[in-house]
Amino acid sequence: MIIVMLGAPGAGKGTQADLICEELGLAHISTGDIFRANIKNGTPLGMEAKKYMDEGKLVPDELTVRILLDRVSKDDCKDGYVLDGFPRTIPQADVLKEALNKSDEKVDFAIDVEVPDEDIVNRMSGRRSCPKCGASYHIQYLPPKTEGICDHCGSELIHREDDKPETVLNRLNVYHAQTQPLIDYYRGEGVLHSIDGTKPRDEVFKAILGILKA
Ligand code: ADP
Ligand code: AMP
Repeated sequence: MIIVMLGAPGAGKGTQADLICEELGLAHISTGDIFRANIKNGTPLGMEAKKYMDEGKLVPDELTVRILLDRVSKDDCKDGYVLDGFPRTIPQADVLKEALNKSDEKVDFAIDVEVPDEDIVNRMSGRRSCPKCGASYHIQYLPPKTEGICDHCGSELIHREDDKPETVLNRLNVYHAQTQPLIDYYRGEGVLHSIDGTKPRDEVFKAILGILKA
């Protein structure tokens, strides 16, 4: 099963992708996490990606697509995966479609997590992220069991540099201009499902499971 999570930055894609992967035994692929790991390790890819990420811009398609296709060719993706933060442009979606076609596969579900812009800045300013396993928390809505510490791996949580309100507004503009058109793209493919992402995490997850298990 191949699932694409759609939605604005901060809509809850990563939070739901984690739950889906745990429930269905799929691999969680976040291009943002891959870029951040590369930045942390000081790789050339990380240095290139950082230039764009710091300003809330998209990393160029060519680079992003190469990283993604390499990642989904790994063994842990054999039984399926959830894409969180990819595709973010129509050309990215086209490359994915073409690559999947070659192995007689396709995107089975595109889940659009709908959250209005007004809620996004608040979500991002309260977001705390695990730099090691990628888990996402919110100081108010979804706090970790111990303040500042990841429930899953015990690492110290961070407030992402690009979650500052100025950058979040840029990211929202980029989302509306370049990523939102994917909603129509996947509607056209007959795989789009929209859900209300303003509901509490577990309610959102229940709605998603209802779709995946229908
Ligand atoms: P995305 O992967 O779409 O950028 P995240 O999953 O990291 O978004 O969620 C963004 C922020 O919103 C995080 O702080 C997360 O804990 C919080 N969050 C996620 N889902 C919900 C929800 N249903 N209600 C309230 N806050 C949520
Ligand atoms: P995310 O962790 O999904 O919020 O992504 C953080 C940042 O990484 C984005 O603002 C982009 O700069 C970059 N990024 C992640 N995924 C992509 C993608 N599919 N295409 C281009 N840039 C991406």
